[in-house]
Amino acid sequence: LVVLGIETSCDDTAAAVVRGNGEILSQVVSSQADLLAKYGGVAPKMAEEAHSQVIDQVVQEALDKANLTATNLSAVAVTIGPGLSLCLRVGVRKARKLAGSFNLPIIGIHHMEAHALVARLIERELQFPFMALLISGGHNLLILAHDLGHYIQLGTTIDDAIGEAYDKTAKWLGLDMSRSGGPALEELAREGDAESIKFSTPMKQHKDCNFSYAGLKTQVRLAIESKNINAEIPISSASSQDRRSRADIAASFQRVAVLHLEERCDRAIEWARKIEPSIKHLVVSGGVASNQYVRARLDHVVKKNSLQLVCPPPKLCTDNGVMVAWTGIEHFCMGRFDPPPPTDEHEDYMYDLRPRWPLGEEYAEGRSEAR
Ligand code: ATP
Ligand code: FE
Repeated sequence: LVVLGIETSCDDTAAAVVRGNGEILSQVVSSQADLLAKYGGVAPKMAEEAHSQVIDQVVQEALDKANLTATNLSAVAVTIGPGLSLCLRVGVRKARKLAGSFNLPIIGIHHMEAHALVARLIERELQFPFMALLISGGHNLLILAHDLGHYIQLGTTIDDAIGEAYDKTAKWLGLDMSRSGGPALEELAREGDAESIKFSTPMKQHKDCNFSYAGLKTQVRLAIESKNINAEIPISSASSQDRRSRADIAASFQRVAVLHLEERCDRAIEWARKIEPSIKHLVVSGGVASNQYVRARLDHVVKKNSLQLVCPPPKLCTDNGVMVAWTGIEHFCMGRFDPPPPTDEHEDYMYDLRPRWPLGEEYAEGRSEAR
């Protein structure tokens, strides 16, 4: 079994080839970080164009690096949601073309499920049920994974995701955004005093597992204003005193942003154990999970609760094709896939895209009534 995975839900164009036994034969990512830095965010039309420009090349490179041609593939897996529909379309169109031409089954993938399940590729001991904390640019999810395709959502964000808070804070601190804000902020925070500014921890009074980062963002913006930090002056040109106060804000922000994760995970473990006493693992994945401080703090929470942390390597935490291919393999093995699309499919065909697609929908609906 050999599956090609294609991912275009946001700002990275990614493809990878993975064997049924979990062997990664290739992985290719083309990032739009330069566009992001220039425009300060993802503009859907521009992102779509950037995906369209590189998609053929990225997929070809993934096949070449794996020393395969499309005829050797068993199936094509592609992210169909959640994400920007203009962007998702690029990947889905490519996947259907390829699958149609080579008579391959096609597997539609949930981007967040892929972030979670890639942990099963790297940790073979990881059996269902397990818990997952998924932290990225657009999502902040705590889930209980009962079984493949069967998830209970224990918590989600009521406003922003942690990655968004990292990105905005980094931008306001004048950091180099040519990668994304997160890694630059993590680096600067190492120089700062995390206790210097007492930001308040979000949602202390809410005894649930939901998240909120909008208020913390506002607290950070006010602190930046009060210290007269000018984002127009890049950190590389800042005076040593200015740099010091930026680092203090970075470290103080990070401490509280992650403390919020710690508190929610603590409670979620308690909740999850009532539903599923046998859980042994907490998976932490999504772009923000590549952060070393986040990993260390969550490792502490997990150990305290006698669980094991499973955190994929950074390259598999941020958006990638491997997670899509692997999730495709998991579904394919359970017989969940679509037949090859017709070869004469028209360009304007309405694909089955799911830009808004909750993970663990049913339980989330029940909870939103209760809120
Ligand atoms: P989603 O998965 O919600 O659709 P996305 O696909 O854009 O969003 P990912 O690639 O999974 O997001 O993650 C990107 C996010 O991870 C960005 O917000 C980025 O700043 C953050 N991130 C990446 N590395 C780090 C790090 N070392 N520290 C903190 N945040 C990080
Ligand atoms: Fe993602």
